Amino acid sequence: MTSNNDILFARAQQTTPGGVNSPVRAFRSVGGTPRFISRAEGPYFWDADDKRYIDYIGSWGPAIVGHTHPEVISAVQQAITRGLSFGAPTEGEVLMAEEICKIVPNVEQVRLVSSGTEATMSALRLARGATKRDKIIKFEGCYHGHADSLLVKAGSGLLTFGNPTSAGVPEDFSKHTLVLDYNNSQQLEEVFASIGDQIACVIVEPVAGNMNLIPATKEFLQTMRSLCTQHGSILIFDEVMCGFRVGLQGAQALYGIAADLICMGKVIGGGLPVAAFGGRADLMGHMAPLGGVYQAGTLSGNPVAVAAGMSTLKLIQAPGFYETLTTQTRQLADGLQAAGQAAGFDFCADAVGGMFGIYFAKEIPRSYAAMMATDKEKFNRFFHLMLDEGVYLAPSAFEAGFVSIQHDSAIIAATLEAAQRAFARL
Ligand code: PMP
Repeated sequence: MTSNNDILFARAQQTTPGGVNSPVRAFRSVGGTPRFISRAEGPYFWDADDKRYIDYIGSWGPAIVGHTHPEVISAVQQAITRGLSFGAPTEGEVLMAEEICKIVPNVEQVRLVSSGTEATMSALRLARGATKRDKIIKFEGCYHGHADSLLVKAGSGLLTFGNPTSAGVPEDFSKHTLVLDYNNSQQLEEVFASIGDQIACVIVEPVAGNMNLIPATKEFLQTMRSLCTQHGSILIFDEVMCGFRVGLQGAQALYGIAADLICMGKVIGGGLPVAAFGGRADLMGHMAPLGGVYQAGTLSGNPVAVAAGMSTLKLIQAPGFYETLTTQTRQLADGLQAAGQAAGFDFCADAVGGMFGIYFAKEIPRSYAAMMATDKEKFNRFFHLMLDEGVYLAPSAFEAGFVSIQHDSAIIAATLEAAQRAFARL
């Protein structure tokens, strides 16, 4: 019998490039037919054949309170009856900005946008506008959305500016982006020593989740902080993924390090399109309509999306929320590691807050190079065995996984039993 997923994928490829609206959904890396999702609830979603999966991507981060949480759904239902979009300010946006400024350290003012890409792109423009400098530093393996300046891979030498990773990005754009090694403080120091006065900003995922999971070392982030302060460069923490995920106050609180600008997304929209960037009021004062840095959006601060975001922000502030989330995620990572190693594989797992990584390697990778050296083929086979077992992991060896508060001990135990069977067949 042909699967509905196969039928939908074949149809999708007729009218949508690659059959998907965002590339990693296409299963290119792991092979096979992407699952078309029809509905979701709590820790589960169901595909077009009505097969149920324990979901470990959670919409790539937003579903931290579990899917279709009754309070989020009710907030959205109420908002919808009042109108879908006005193109004029609303009280909901005021409340949301106040809530973000209350929760996130070092955010005095915030601008709401509709995607993480817009947040990072606008933060870069702000950093360049405020410093009147063009050059930016990013790190290999960190993803910051698909703005031109950020789709850049490392150049061949320390002071070689990057090459575009995407067709359609002019060299003239990428030549202002310097791509350095993640967790390599010495290299960062050398670059600042020679061209520090030209650097508008450093942008980093403080807990990287786009090259599987690799947390920055505290020393790396401290070095970055002091170099930026010393040279008048802006430090941007891209917390679109790790914000509200590694802890309520994100990576700044986890490491005890203050950024100048913080990008947010995913969780703050609770599954609808809300993202944001914010920081000190003097810096944010460069934004239009106050200052000369332009940025705008027809649907920015959309009332329905803001309603979903606000109810999610309330739910994650429940006492013990992050303690529970962290414990559950740690149980999952430790259990997977034990299962993989007991089956005789070079396999390990790690977790930070509600994010986790699994690695077919002897040791947990701490750099982009170490991550690239993990066994991708074994991951791909393991991914499909888990999928057969009804567990949906990120469909790439180089993406982190996400746990929701609804992934309780019973769900984790079921996942670990599935993993034992999968490892036995690997
Ligand atoms: N920054 C980071 C750290 C991300 O993980 C992502 C998306 N995965 C983005 C930016 C871009 O966000 P969006 O997909 O909402 O544009």
